[in-house]
Amino acid sequence: MRGETDRKVAENGFGDGQGRAILLDFDHTLFDTDRFFWVDLKSAFARFGVPDEAWEKSYEAIWPLGYSLAKHLDELDRLGVIAGQDIRRTMLATLEAAFSDLRPYLFPDVPAFLEAARQRGFDLILLSFGDPTWQSYKVRASGLAPLFQKIVYTVKQGGKGELLDDLGSSYAELCAIDNNPADLDSMKARHSKLRTHLICRVKPSDLEGPTSLVPDRFREAARYLSIPSRLSHHRCWSLDEVRL
Ligand SMILES: [Mg+2]
Repeated sequence: MRGETDRKVAENGFGDGQGRAILLDFDHTLFDTDRFFWVDLKSAFARFGVPDEAWEKSYEAIWPLGYSLAKHLDELDRLGVIAGQDIRRTMLATLEAAFSDLRPYLFPDVPAFLEAARQRGFDLILLSFGDPTWQSYKVRASGLAPLFQKIVYTVKQGGKGELLDDLGSSYAELCAIDNNPADLDSMKARHSKLRTHLICRVKPSDLEGPTSLVPDRFREAARYLSIPSRLSHHRCWSLDEVRL
């Protein structure tokens, strides 16, 4: 797949050092990962009688090996939470069908922003951290893959910075939008002209109001609030605040 997107870039003459591009992060920037994973997917397992503690324990066990629904079910089977292969097969088919369309998990400002950026001649490059198979499932199911000129998955912590070595010379103008200050720091450290936008999809009031009764609603996204930035980045709450 990566080869295909690379070819598309070359054929269209993009990335020749003249144009401009936007580097976009996926989880918690374009995609409401917490609502998908920690709220709705976890609830779907619970409807099959999987207790939250067993769900989390099995998730923690398989996550370092690269997440997939099949691996998660295998681990629950191993722990004796799922009674047999028939139920496992039924669960996998039901979950895959229920979560085959992830477009409802895109933040509402995403489609219009990407469209406007394309119209203004920006190349769109998705830099996504995490297991490539799991990440590419989410990107495809959310309908984003065709909108991007290039998609790069990296499993290396801080790996986004290294990607700037190539991209920095491929474009005259680059900006990056990410919810992780550490990733923006690592990219800007490699390419000082990079315009960086630190997007936060969690408002302080989200953590105080009634939704705080559902701690998983902002489970991962809220953690980024406490990561300090070494370099300066434009802070925003929405893509509407990113001037193209
Ligand atoms: Mg992210």
